[in-house]
Amino acid sequence: MKHKLCVIGYGGMGNWHVKNALKSDVVELAGIHDIDEERNLLAEKNGIKAFRTLNEVLNNSEIELVTIAAPNNVHKEIAIKCMEAGKNVICEKPIALNTIDLQEMIDVSIRTGKLFTVHQNRRWDIDFLAIKQLYETGVIGEVFNIESRIHGSRGIPSDWRGKKENGGGMLYDWGVHLIDQILMLYPENYIASVHCEFDHITNKEVDDGFKLTLHFDNGARAYIEVGTYNFIQMPRFYIQGMKGTGIISVWNEPCHVVECFAWNESDVIPVQTAAGLTKTMAPRDNITTKSYIIDCPVSDVHNFYRNVCAVLEGKEKQIVSHIQMMNVLKTIERAFSSI
Ligand code: NAD
Repeated sequence: MKHKLCVIGYGGMGNWHVKNALKSDVVELAGIHDIDEERNLLAEKNGIKAFRTLNEVLNNSEIELVTIAAPNNVHKEIAIKCMEAGKNVICEKPIALNTIDLQEMIDVSIRTGKLFTVHQNRRWDIDFLAIKQLYETGVIGEVFNIESRIHGSRGIPSDWRGKKENGGGMLYDWGVHLIDQILMLYPENYIASVHCEFDHITNKEVDDGFKLTLHFDNGARAYIEVGTYNFIQMPRFYIQGMKGTGIISVWNEPCHVVECFAWNESDVIPVQTAAGLTKTMAPRDNITTKSYIIDCPVSDVHNFYRNVCAVLEGKEKQIVSHIQMMNVLKTIERAFSSI
């Protein structure tokens, strides 16, 4: 039996959830709800039932699950109302704007016994999965540095994302995904320090990019950079371990790995640089290193909803847990307070 879902907020991401729900093997779309009548009319034009008020959704006993895809500042209020009305809740990211609000939401989830999770869909990005696979196989040895970058060139969108009152800004928007990915790679290591610098190139009110450095207890470092004024992109991922390096240049492209199996190289031939010679920076040859490409892993975004439904049926544990949600938001708060 499929679980009946209502999507709250039928904008860009709400439409994504609707399209995927229509193809899902675990949920059945009961309808949508939006406060904008034009969006409700559009849904009806697309053959989807539109609930005009949130109360209609809350009072509908068939709806078991809601996905909240409304702007960031209304997540808390809608999520709490839904859980109090007996609905299980998937909320878009960022789950909340601060850890106090998130704790309140988690407390309601525990008290009502309703599932509460955040849509961390970028755990299923194939570039991330490729880096995770490389990390976990251990072929590049102990990892001491990961760089994760997203670069665009159109500034921050001019909608609610550009406003502080709506929880706008790139740290809330992209930061939540990229921090979550890093915490999936270094889960056992506590973050010892957080330092963040924010860009305000196209928007003075909220950050339109940031550069975030996380130092972990074991000495490893993660560097996360989001830019919206970058007309040339830097690589999506760059990972360094004691036995090699990996790089993914662009989303959805395979990972290039260079493994080093003989650290010492006796007769390095110096290279000619612009106005001199260097042995230190001379490239390695294939006697001490092996260079290869790893294929993109297979990914299926439906696995998020599959997990949620398996949790409802008591068959699995929640993939995106309360503690993980809290750790991401704590890191964001530390980033804001590091300025
Ligand atoms: P959007 O502006 O395109 O759509 C938001 C919709 O919510 C609009 O139709 C608006 O009328 C409606 N809305 C506003 N307040 C509402 C309320 N109180 N009740 C019901 N509907 C309401 O925005 P979007 O890009 O779809 O973003 C929505 C959410 O999804 C945000 O939290 C955003 O961060 C998240 N998002 C996630 C991803 C992802 O990959 N996980 C991608 C994009 C957006």
